Formats: sequence, C-alpha cells, structure tokens
Amino acid sequence: MDAKKKDISRRDFLKIVGISTAATAGLAGCGPKGTGASAHDAQGDVPTGKMTLRTNPKTGENVSLLGYGCMRWPTLPAPEKGGNVIDQDAVNELIDYAMAHGVNYYDTSPVYVQGWSERSTGIALKRHPRDKFFVATKLSNFSNYTRENSIAMYRRSFEELQVDYIDYYLLHSVGNGGSDTFRARYVDNGMIDFLMKEREAGRIRNLGFSYHGSKETFDEVLAMHETVHWDFVQIQLNYLDWRYGASSKNVNADYLYGELEKRHIPAVIMEPLLGGRLSKVPEHIVTRLKQRAPEASVASWAFRFAGTFPGVLTVLSGMTYMEHLQDNLRTYSPLVPITDEEFDFLQQTADLMKQYPTIPCNDCQYCMPCPYGIDIPAILLHYNKCVNEGNLPTTSATADYRQARRAFLVGYDRSVPRLRQASHCIGCRQCVEHCPQSIDIPAELHRIDHYVEQLKQETL
Ligand code: SF4
Ligand code: SF4
Repeated sequence: MDAKKKDISRRDFLKIVGISTAATAGLAGCGPKGTGASAHDAQGDVPTGKMTLRTNPKTGENVSLLGYGCMRWPTLPAPEKGGNVIDQDAVNELIDYAMAHGVNYYDTSPVYVQGWSERSTGIALKRHPRDKFFVATKLSNFSNYTRENSIAMYRRSFEELQVDYIDYYLLHSVGNGGSDTFRARYVDNGMIDFLMKEREAGRIRNLGFSYHGSKETFDEVLAMHETVHWDFVQIQLNYLDWRYGASSKNVNADYLYGELEKRHIPAVIMEPLLGGRLSKVPEHIVTRLKQRAPEASVASWAFRFAGTFPGVLTVLSGMTYMEHLQDNLRTYSPLVPITDEEFDFLQQTADLMKQYPTIPCNDCQYCMPCPYGIDIPAILLHYNKCVNEGNLPTTSATADYRQARRAFLVGYDRSVPRLRQASHCIGCRQCVEHCPQSIDIPAELHRIDHYVEQLKQETL
C-alpha cells in the first residue's frame, strides 16, 4: 500500500467523491437495511427478478441497466488515521442488496474515495461468485503518464480487486486537457497498444474510455475505432446535458450518443443525475414533476430518461445511501421507457432549469486541494443551493430580498469557513485543468465573491 501511495499523487488521492461527514451521517439515518428480497420503505416494495437487462453486442452477456458507481462509498470518521475510512460493512451490505436485486455491473477507479474504492469494492465482490458480476475500472494516470507508472497502475487494479480479468477497462476522463493530454497519457507511451494486447490475452474483456471534453477530441478518439475497436464508451448523459452540455464547454449528450449509435458502440452512462443536481432541482421544477407523476421520485425522471435509449448498456449511479439504491432499483425493475411526449416535457423542463443560473459543479472534488485552501466545491454548491431554494436575492428593497440576503450570507459562513471562502482565491488557475465540467473556477469564484461583497454592503 505504501508503494501505491507513492505512485499516486496527493491530488489524485484527493479525487474523492462524497467522502464527507454529511455522507456518513446520512448513511446512519438511511432506509431499511438487510439484503433480503422483501425489503421495502415508505414508497413500497423493491421488486426482485425484474431488473431490465441490456445485451453487450460483442459478448452477448446481459448487463443490468442499473450499474453501481463505486465512487461514493460510505465512510466512517477515523481521527486516529487523520480523516475518514470506508465503512466496509456498509459497502458489503449495499453490494449484497444490489446483487440480490439484479445489479451486476460495478464501476470503480484507482483514484475513487482517496484511492481506496477498488480495494473495498473488491472485498465486497469477492464474497460473490465471479461469474455473477462485471467489474469495470480505469487507467487513471492523471499526473504521471509514464508507461512504467501506467502499467503499474493497471496491474495494481487486479490485486486490489482480487480478480484475474477485468470485464470493462477504461481510459479515464479522456478529453480533459484536450488532444495533447490524451496523446501523452495513452498514445505516445504505447499504453493503447499495451491494453489491446491485454484484451487479446483475455485479461481485459472490453476496452473503452470515459469522456469529458470537446467535440473535436471526441471525434479524434472515436476515429481510432477503426484500429482500436472500442467495445464501449462511457459518456455523460442526462436530460439537461442532452442539449445543454455545451454550456459547460463539454459537447452535448445528443451528439455523443448519436456518434456511438452510428457505430453500434454501446454507451455506458455516467452523471444521469448530473452529480445530484437533477434530484435537487428548484422547488418550481419539483412541483412541475410532481404534478405530472405524484408517486414518482424526482430522480426517477432522470434515470428513466437515461435508460430509455436502446444503445445504453448500463446507467451508473454512485449510491451512498440504501434509500437511493432502492429508489433506482424501483425505476429500473423494470424500466418504463419515457414516451415521446415525456421526452418533450423533460426538454421543456431543461429549458426552465437553464433560466436558473446554477454552476455545473457535481462535487467530484477533482479540483481539490486548492493550494490556497479554497473549498471550491463547497462554495459552488452553496451558491447552487441558494439558487435552487430561491434564496438568491435579485431585486432589492423587499422583505423577500432581505430574507434571501440573510439566508445567503448566514448559510455561506456556515457552509464554508471564512479562510476558505472565494475572497481568498488568487486566480492562479491551477484548479481549472482538473475540472471535468470545464468550469472556469476562478471566474465563478470571483463572481460569487463580488456578489457576496455586494450583499454585505447592502446590509450596512
Ligand atoms: S484559481 Fe483560486 S481556487 Fe483555483 S487553485 Fe488558484 S487559488 Fe485555488
Ligand atoms: S469545480 Fe469542477 S472539479 Fe471541482 S468539484 Fe466542481 S465539478 Fe468537480
């Protein structure tokens, strides 16, 4: 493990998603526990044996439409170790429950959960027969592209996951940094050739890549299909990004999906909920969705949208809480595809959401740590929360304005310690290249800081 730590930079280690006190507390208070098939909660039974399956055209294997994203495993405080550790019992319980309800695809990476996800996922999966699950992991060589380091990272994944073959292996976050970075990470060092040989040898069953970036780099990497034969590609797809992905400088999801469909390459979907933003929508959007289907959860609309496309192999969800797992199981056991009319309804919903200026941060933490101590995601998420709750004061001199101003400022101090607030950003831009959502972080922080200063002036 020490060798592992040496090879993965501190920033890579901190590419955690969801390792927070809130996540830990949330799990303690979550829904029913146990792995039995009869579990239910206030929303009713969770069906078993009804999971929608999709067929991988290359292997003929059936993959569950719900895939488990292993980047948000529950954690426990471990002050003696200087932070949190993964709650392995909870992970075992979640995986057992998912397996019992038909989930057979588990997606991890050497950098998820401070570098501990693969090991934890491997421990939980090892308790199940190897032919009952598909495991996906990635070449996450973000900061050290050498062939030696990349091969070492690849080999370590087998040890951590305790497997002798990997079902789905991905080049991780292609597009981030553009074409030059892609070539340096995978082409110039010969890693693609190496991985193709590993596929021939059967140690990799399907080879693909996950994508965050521009249309140009996507086209370039996809054009390699003729020689590499990508077996699958992981893309960000949800009803907001379908036509508005380009607003975060990443290409629209309808383009990504369309290009894969043309080539009959199965799509694995990430960010169906846009990092939770499509489950924490503004109140008027909740009302709109509830009026249409009172029993359906807000999140289920997003999962139905992502799962409806026939070229989708599986839809990943990073489920920390049992109640989220159960909600998603209900949505896909079986999937009720969205109708053309519902598709239009969701596109109109996306249009309405774009009128609210939230920042497309999904709390992935890839930008952390900031060398100047700024808590980037906490600032952006506070801002988004205020937008969604209608606490973004826009017009002055009304009682609502004063209430919203107070809610914003008090909440800001509570969510982000003063020394870690936007005012301390020096604009060095070191964080920018790490953001898969292509957010101009210093510009957004500057805008928020200016906004906060204005609000403070008005309280004087
Ligand atoms: S631009 Fe600001 S937030 Fe980003 S690394 Fe520099 S100081 Fe930190
Ligand atoms: S700013 Fe970008 S990198 Fe940082 S947490 Fe948000 S989405 Fe992730």
